[in-house]
Amino acid sequence: MLGSLARKLRAFGFDAAYYSSGDDAGLLERSVREGRIILTADRTLATRSGMKGFRAILVTGNSDRERVRSIAVGAEAGGIELVRGDPLCSLCGGDLRLVRKDEVSAEVPPAVGRRHRLFFKCGSCGQLYWHGSHWKKLMSVARRLDDR
Ligand SMILES: [Zn+2]
Repeated sequence: MLGSLARKLRAFGFDAAYYSSGDDAGLLERSVREGRIILTADRTLATRSGMKGFRAILVTGNSDRERVRSIAVGAEAGGIELVRGDPLCSLCGGDLRLVRKDEVSAEVPPAVGRRHRLFFKCGSCGQLYWHGSHWKKLMSVARRLDDR
């Protein structure tokens, strides 16, 4: 359910992993092993993990915008620091590098090539990104995490 949120968080520069299989015990174990904060929409899991000393934030809201807001509020309330780096590939979490337009001109639609100058490519899966309207929308959501 939080898969699209995980993709957005990566685009914002958070190293988000999506845990879709396995049980709660496996999730807790992985969060410790990888030094991660647990984001969950499961109130019981959030409460129980918090009581056991795990860093957990309850995610609420009906849209990703509201969910991002709830993460910011939860982090503040729990004294949890959110570490944000450069934007990551939203598909796989790989590092993005700036590529020149002429390197990617064959891979983007001509209209996109005419309108945009900056392109980013994922070093892991090769996904291409540019600063289009989708990117701007993402960044407006990301700012909610910064303006606290
Ligand atoms: Zn990727």
